[in-house]
Amino acid sequence: MKSRWSDEDASRCAGDLALRVYTSRLLGSEPALVLHGGGNTSVKSSITNLFGEEERVIYVKGSGWDLETIEPAGFSPCRMQPLLALAKLETLSDPQMAAELRKSLTDVNAPSPSVEAILHAILPARFVDHTHADAILTMTNSPDGEHRVREVFGDRLVYIPYVMPGFKLARLCAELYPGQARKSTVGMLLLKHGLFTFGENAKQSYERMIELVSLAEEYLSKRGASTPVPGARRQGS
Ligand SMILES: [Zn+2]
Repeated sequence: MKSRWSDEDASRCAGDLALRVYTSRLLGSEPALVLHGGGNTSVKSSITNLFGEEERVIYVKGSGWDLETIEPAGFSPCRMQPLLALAKLETLSDPQMAAELRKSLTDVNAPSPSVEAILHAILPARFVDHTHADAILTMTNSPDGEHRVREVFGDRLVYIPYVMPGFKLARLCAELYPGQARKSTVGMLLLKHGLFTFGENAKQSYERMIELVSLAEEYLSKRGASTPVPGARRQGS
């Protein structure tokens, strides 16, 4: 898998949200990254509210938008503080979480944030990319999958056991990530689910995704394994 980043195209993007749109579309145009369920992306920023106060916000992919064709309006602007507070709750039902995510919006007309919004918020880096890449799923779904990914990626990733997407997963990541993260950490791998990469700029986060998925592809091809034949496009979260 090759990086589709172009300095020329990126130079036409004014600001972080425009760059977020640009690399989200690059991810969306790579079928081996997104065919099996969408993926989602985010960027952290700050705004000055009506009262002149600075607020930290995260623009996270909105439900109903596809990465390949996303536009700035497809990102949901959420206040960071309530998202980080939610991640510390003991329990929260998924409908309650969806309602709280909507309440965190700075724009009531924005689309509902991805159900994975809290996972994006708890990762400290500014840009976060998340895919359900075929090669990563093939590795982690195989017998001894966790051992294999640890062998290939080592301490570049934080490893999270499988939990159904929703509040429980967000809470588990918030609990495990800080203890496992090292200076060398560039992403978080959710076993049998997908991969998060992150970086301080759009290019770094995107190219880390391409590099790590390429390593997984190489690992599989060296062992004569092939990634699954892509099926019908599924609604991503
Ligand atoms: Zn996911």
